[in-house]
Amino acid sequence: MKKYNFYAGPSILSEYAIKKTAEAVIDFAGTGLSLMEVSHRGKEFTAVINEARALIKELLQIPEDFDVVFLGGGASMQFCMAPYNFLEKKAAFLDTGTWASKAIKEAKIFGEVNVVASSKADNYTYIPKTYEVPADVDYFYYCTNNTIYGTETHKDLSFGNIPVIADMSSDIFSRPIDFTHYDLIFAGAQKNLAPAGVTLVIVRKSALGRVSRPIPTMLDYRTHVDKESMFNTPPVLPIFTALQTAKWYQQLGGVEAIYKINMEKAGILYDEIDNNRMFKGTVTCKEDRSIMNVCFVMADEYKDLEEDFAKFAAEAGMVGIKGHRSVGGFRASIYNGMPLAGVQALVDTMKKFAATR
Ligand SMILES: *Cc1c(COP(=O)(O)O)cnc(C)c1O
Repeated sequence: MKKYNFYAGPSILSEYAIKKTAEAVIDFAGTGLSLMEVSHRGKEFTAVINEARALIKELLQIPEDFDVVFLGGGASMQFCMAPYNFLEKKAAFLDTGTWASKAIKEAKIFGEVNVVASSKADNYTYIPKTYEVPADVDYFYYCTNNTIYGTETHKDLSFGNIPVIADMSSDIFSRPIDFTHYDLIFAGAQKNLAPAGVTLVIVRKSALGRVSRPIPTMLDYRTHVDKESMFNTPPVLPIFTALQTAKWYQQLGGVEAIYKINMEKAGILYDEIDNNRMFKGTVTCKEDRSIMNVCFVMADEYKDLEEDFAKFAAEAGMVGIKGHRSVGGFRASIYNGMPLAGVQALVDTMKKFAATR
């Protein structure tokens, strides 16, 4: 039976990227050696990392002043690295969920943190929209897609000339990005790019070096920018896969084309949730619904059928749709790697389930 992977992360990757990586693990670029055992400074891998950085710049239309580097430590490392490098006195944060809260906690180590708004009291079922960002902050921080709660800010936020930093771990490459106000965007690879082990960091070079504190070498973005992401041994395998994923994105027609497909995928799934009497969405403000992580529960009258549906869906080949413990119910993660057919299969499963009870 065909299985569809709806896990939230690590999550589905394209067959193309998986196959190309598998081949390179056996014989990398005709070297007769495995990708896992070659020198990261050899000409074959240098070509991979440089092509990956260039192709990502092209796909996202990243302006000249930015650099693309691959770092270790996951997106979580960026929660401390971002304030280490950018927070001199005060920063503004939008609290939209677990990942934003974790970033807030780390930033407090480095300076004053102004949480401009939070939807915590409503279990993060919407994204706050009415708040002011003080003009004297070093930057404004937000998480564009809240993987756990299924909410997403669909437009790049901006507040005059205040620099913006964003965690785009779970929606990078899902839509075009306007870089005008960003100083830093980061994304752990394991949602829309590669296996875990590398974090994509897109940083505005001219914004670096403004804080007065000393920064340890490995945590200083300048180190990685200056050494073209090769200061120390980078995670070669995830970077190789990242390049394959980027190539696959290019074949799909780039980020604009991917965005259209994503809107279609999310559209048919939310339509089913709204129209099938057995289910309901958890995000209270429909415009905040994520096109990457679709959260839903059984409708109140059918609460006791949750286990039944979980089993029914698993038997139909739907893998990883159990909701996060802080929301419950179900979460279907439909990242870029998920084909329309997978979403259609889930919708059919929901229809069939409703028809049999
Ligand atoms: C998964 C995720 C993280 C954590 O990523 P790690 O690489 O595990 O540190 C952070 N932010 C968001 C939005 C995520 O989805």
